[in-house]
Amino acid sequence: MGAATLPWAPVEGPVAQVAWIAAVGGMAMLPDLDHNGSTVSDMWGPVTDVPSGAIGRLAQGHRWGTHDAVLAPVTFGALAVAAANAFWSSLLLLALAIGLALRALHFVIPGRAENTVIGNLVLSWAGAWLLLEHSPGPAWLPWAVALGVLTHIAGDALTTQGVPVPVLWLLRRSRLALTPLRTGTALEKVVLAPAFVLVTLWCVYLNTDVRAAVDPVLQDLRSLSG
Ligand SMILES: [Zn+2]
Repeated sequence: MGAATLPWAPVEGPVAQVAWIAAVGGMAMLPDLDHNGSTVSDMWGPVTDVPSGAIGRLAQGHRWGTHDAVLAPVTFGALAVAAANAFWSSLLLLALAIGLALRALHFVIPGRAENTVIGNLVLSWAGAWLLLEHSPGPAWLPWAVALGVLTHIAGDALTTQGVPVPVLWLLRRSRLALTPLRTGTALEKVVLAPAFVLVTLWCVYLNTDVRAAVDPVLQDLRSLSG
């Protein structure tokens, strides 16, 4: 999703674009911060687990407030706007995005460091620090957050449990489900996840900056083999 939106993404330069993809992809896991035991609440041990309990209560339960297709992107986006004002809070936000992106893509990353609490903390904070060094003041981060959250809600809307009817659920609890798919099924793991990776790689390649960097390497490889 992050890669597919790259042509319209409010970022410039390959470093910022990689950050955009990582942020959108990672933030797509953020809505599940409403229950203990989700990938996002397990990620940094108590650092993410304790807040997730509070967020769950605030959102009135799992798959309610943080899964509202209107309120959730707006709220998370607004929080990101507030965070982007200071270096340390945008570092936290970006580290969260990278940590989540690493978890989301763990099956294409060699080793298991990114799945351990300490390994993930080190990788994501170091990565966030490096990215912020190269592109200071990421004004696009709130958009990446809102888009990621919306992507997650769209995905959950395709499952049997569905998502709350935006805003109206506050008055009368009601849900919206588009298809009878179950989460965590073979389909999701075998088809959707690899497809997501392929689409991401393809969109990154289509992007001119990346292609300009990759094509000479491909040409060298071709001349070597030929
Ligand atoms: Zn969810």
